[in-house]
Amino acid sequence: MSAPDAPRMKIMEVCGTHTAAILRGGLRALLPPEVRLVSGPGCPVCVTSAGFIDGVIEWARREDAAIISFGDLFGVRGTHCSFAEARAAGCEFIPVYSPFEALKTARANPQKSYLLAAVGFETTVPLYALVLETIIQEKIPNLRLAVSVKTMPAALAFLGETEGIDGFLCPGHVSVIIGKDAYLPLSERFKKPFVIGGFEPDEVLTAIREIAAQLRQGVYAVKNLYPSVVSDAGNLRAKALIARYFEPADGVWRGIGMIPGSALAVRPAYAHYAIPITEADDAPPEGCGCAAVLTGRLSPDECPLFGGLCRPEDPVGACMVSNEGSCRIYYENR
Ligand code: SF4
Repeated sequence: MSAPDAPRMKIMEVCGTHTAAILRGGLRALLPPEVRLVSGPGCPVCVTSAGFIDGVIEWARREDAAIISFGDLFGVRGTHCSFAEARAAGCEFIPVYSPFEALKTARANPQKSYLLAAVGFETTVPLYALVLETIIQEKIPNLRLAVSVKTMPAALAFLGETEGIDGFLCPGHVSVIIGKDAYLPLSERFKKPFVIGGFEPDEVLTAIREIAAQLRQGVYAVKNLYPSVVSDAGNLRAKALIARYFEPADGVWRGIGMIPGSALAVRPAYAHYAIPITEADDAPPEGCGCAAVLTGRLSPDECPLFGGLCRPEDPVGACMVSNEGSCRIYYENR
């Protein structure tokens, strides 16, 4: 039980997998009324800019190349169309479950050009780095990368500054790579709890309870409640691989805009293995609440388009496209 005048706590679960665990487990109903959970920008498909989609489609058309990407990127719209709509108009797109499938495809069809749309967070970047390394070592001439990868700490700093979030349930999978220590400067700077938790319902609840306890006590700390897979320093091998091929860059997040230092770009020494894309965010469709959903200002079911004009089979905004998108998770668990 909580005191009737208990102060409100706005806690952000940053990653879509946590949102799914919370919705599927019915965990909201178990929380005291003063705890408000809001979703964050932790779905890579949701934050991929319209400019990136446009740039990839334009390049494919110009070079008569096939685009390879994760399947859930297919429904995300650029300024004019999505990959799926461009495919219907004649472009060749190949959905894959793993970036390594791009290598197999390129080796098997040396006469054809391919572009791997490399989208994701710190979790996927080591895979792209390995793809790049293989292209270089095997001298594969017909596969290049279009890179739009984002990093979480700068995005959390942006949210900490602008959105009045009281505490963060840190992204679990990203934390495996970057480690607990990556959150120490953020916790110190914003004087807020940053807690790493697992994905089982009891692990999520334990993490939320830890954030709430810190807030009630007026303390803040980084706490790792997922130590079976998250270490203090993170995955050093993966981090070294990332650093070998990528360097920090400014990132354009759909619905949010440019966040300084929140992306990774291929290092200049390897730039000819990637295509340059100038990312920009387009104006959202009329009534689309994705920007507010991604920053925790709006719950997905508060968007006026939710479940009516915007549904998984006919999405208006990117948050309804991917299985990790908070609107899609809300819709499927409504
Ligand atoms: Fe965007 Fe659709 Fe979600 Fe509204 S319901 S915020 S338009 S994805």
